[in-house]
Amino acid sequence: MKILMTLAVALSLAAPSARAAEDRRLVLVTLDGMRWQEVFRGADPALAVDPAIVEDRPGIKAAFLDPADRKRALTPFLHEVMATQGVLIGDRDLGSCARVTNDKFFSYPGYNEILTGRPDPRIASNDPVPNPNVSFLEWLDGRPGYRGKVAVFASWSVFTAILNTGRSRVPVNAGFMTPKPHGAFEAALGRLQDQSPRIWSTVRFDAFTHNYALEAIRRDRPKVVYIAYGETDDFAHDGQYGHMLEAAHRADGFLRELWTTLQADKAYAGKTTLIVTTDHGRGDGSRPNDWKGHGAVIWPASDQTWFAAIGPDVKKGVTKLDQCAGANQVAATALQALDVDWKAFDPQAGTPLPIFALR
Ligand SMILES: [Zn+2]
Repeated sequence: MKILMTLAVALSLAAPSARAAEDRRLVLVTLDGMRWQEVFRGADPALAVDPAIVEDRPGIKAAFLDPADRKRALTPFLHEVMATQGVLIGDRDLGSCARVTNDKFFSYPGYNEILTGRPDPRIASNDPVPNPNVSFLEWLDGRPGYRGKVAVFASWSVFTAILNTGRSRVPVNAGFMTPKPHGAFEAALGRLQDQSPRIWSTVRFDAFTHNYALEAIRRDRPKVVYIAYGETDDFAHDGQYGHMLEAAHRADGFLRELWTTLQADKAYAGKTTLIVTTDHGRGDGSRPNDWKGHGAVIWPASDQTWFAAIGPDVKKGVTKLDQCAGANQVAATALQALDVDWKAFDPQAGTPLPIFALR
């Protein structure tokens, strides 16, 4: 017994230095078109009582307006866990800032910028045109140690084009895909997806995306996972403020479940960085109903975003950076979290955000 105890102590003492750099892991998550205004102010008290845009007004009021801390009520994981144990940037009411650097302020240009490290003026629509640019995910998948260990799960079908699955080998489960199931749970998930209503032609409900991702994490333990949720954007376009709030709250719960799952799995615990951000903002409330839309031409404030990260090397409690955080900096930040040289990916990419403690 004594020998065992000594061994256990020795192993636990050895653990930090034994955490090899090549064993760093990454989960990147995006919440499509989720405004910083709701992230940092919570539900808007004027919008959340409007019968034209909220069906379940008593439920929305009780859940998201009555609590004294509205932001915590809406996205508790972001505020209670990520903001305190990691970084949460973009609260413009406090002078913090995050934005996209492309000049379009809609999804494909935003995701291209996040995943490739720079904006590309050629990407000027959301059409499912194969991306000429190589994402850091595709680049990583071609490197020793990462081949076959990168996986993508997305609610929006266009992600197969954004990640150019015709060229890249990164597996992308997007839109209404029901991949050949590995076991009973995935078989049931595929059946439920096929049997559920489709209220948007190219975007499935996030619960399917989330559960496909969680199942793959538990089964395959990929080193790098990207999960792109979509409901927050589509409910907003539909003018459904109540449904949008509930989608945001569910997405926050997905983040908590992801983080809890990762920390309970020794393949991920203590060596995984979770990065969460969005592809664009929306109208800033300066005109009625402009929370529904985004795009540079009509909604100039929809470049405004937010960024969050938590992980073994991430500083704790950072809410503001010296310079506005750009979406073009996410790729290099993600690579730095993996301890991979981002300049080897693209020396012209936006530089890593200064969110890491010195190692
Ligand atoms: Zn949109």
